[in-house]
Amino acid sequence: MTKKLLVVEDSKPIASVIKKIGESLGYEVTIAISLSEVEDLLQGENEFFAATIDYALPDAEHGEAIETVLSHGIPGVVMTGKMDEVTRKKILAQPVIDYIPKENSQAFMYLKRILYWQVANTGTGVLVVDDSRAARNHIVELLKRRNFTVYIADGGDAALDVIKKNNNIKMVITDLEMPGMDGISLTNEIRKLYSRDQMTVIGISGASNVTHSARFIKNGADDFLRKPFCPEEFYCRITQNIENLHNIEKIQKAANTDYLTELPNRRSFFSDGKQYISSYNGKNLPYGLAMLDIDFFKKVNDTYGHEAGDHILKVLALYMKKHLGNALLARLGGEEFAILLSGSDQEDIYNQLDEFRREISVSQFTHEENHISFTVSIGAVFNSTLGLEEQMNQADVALYSAKENGRNQIVVSE
Ligand code: GH3
Ligand code: MG
Ligand code: MG
Ligand code: MG
Repeated sequence: MTKKLLVVEDSKPIASVIKKIGESLGYEVTIAISLSEVEDLLQGENEFFAATIDYALPDAEHGEAIETVLSHGIPGVVMTGKMDEVTRKKILAQPVIDYIPKENSQAFMYLKRILYWQVANTGTGVLVVDDSRAARNHIVELLKRRNFTVYIADGGDAALDVIKKNNNIKMVITDLEMPGMDGISLTNEIRKLYSRDQMTVIGISGASNVTHSARFIKNGADDFLRKPFCPEEFYCRITQNIENLHNIEKIQKAANTDYLTELPNRRSFFSDGKQYISSYNGKNLPYGLAMLDIDFFKKVNDTYGHEAGDHILKVLALYMKKHLGNALLARLGGEEFAILLSGSDQEDIYNQLDEFRREISVSQFTHEENHISFTVSIGAVFNSTLGLEEQMNQADVALYSAKENGRNQIVVSE
């Protein structure tokens, strides 16, 4: 669903820059140039996901639009030309997402990051651990404005329980001094279970002892905040740490994904395949392993060009996801794919594979003005007593037989 962004801004050039930023992030943007326009818009059925609010408008020179937007439950970023301490305090006294001084182009880069994360944070769990309810509530309130899914715990033991029950938790923000398990011990326990690639830990302490930050970091925390902190510092650290985590995820995903089809690659198939197999065996679920290879693919390239060949590989991957969605799929290389598939019994699995083969053989794929048809050959093995490598060898031999026997068919390894 497209998210709607309300841009409250009386300067046309600035409004159009913000509109472009919003649209580049996939928002549907509505501009209002005055408070009265904002009021009119909010009368209607508009469901805004977020807003940017200019501090000074012709008919609302002292930030009156902020309250109007926030009172409709729309999270808002304030854009301001004024940067004095009184204005800053006045803005931050209200539950805004953030405020941005319109000083230079950096301001718009920062806005873009905020608007990006406002969507991307959805569903990311953050656990706040503090024995003081007031301290906890303050942090929870700040996080909720940034769209995180927020969990709370009043101590280390409770925190570990919450983490185990909610696998969307990616960040833990923990106080140091707490009765029972304190923040340092909690960090230690978390690091036994989750690497820094999987979970970020931020330590917080109110005590003035400067060695606390070092202790937190040495025990596996990624960052440290000293109480009292201002919302700006809090948000900068949170965003930076979430960005780090996200970048690592992106790198890991790239290393395990085939660039062309976006299916898992060979490396990923070997590691995930082993896990799938032990889980199937543990549950006594029948499964099979199949190798699939496009027939005479060289001819597709020779006849229609390499780009058409690439297109066919992508479309085949989409078909595999659609028809064999529960299976572990991978592009092993070239025009060869692997399928690890469970079913009610061997016959059911065989039928799923053969139905897929038949579907491909009767389909036509369009690339530019060409209609391209092709077939696939499949070698399958149903022998859960073998390891993954040996199953792949056997499926490969069966695939070779399928090719020898005339292609467009499945051969099951004896
Ligand atoms: P067979 O039925 O025996 O499998 O015949 P084939 O032509 O499919 O097999 P062969 O191994 O002779 O040729 C495979 C072709 O796949 C050759 C290669 O150019 C093409 N190919 C491999 N990777 C890609 C790719 O990423 N994109 C495109 N367009 N073609 C690729
Ligand atoms: Mg405390
Ligand atoms: Mg082939
Ligand atoms: Mg091949």
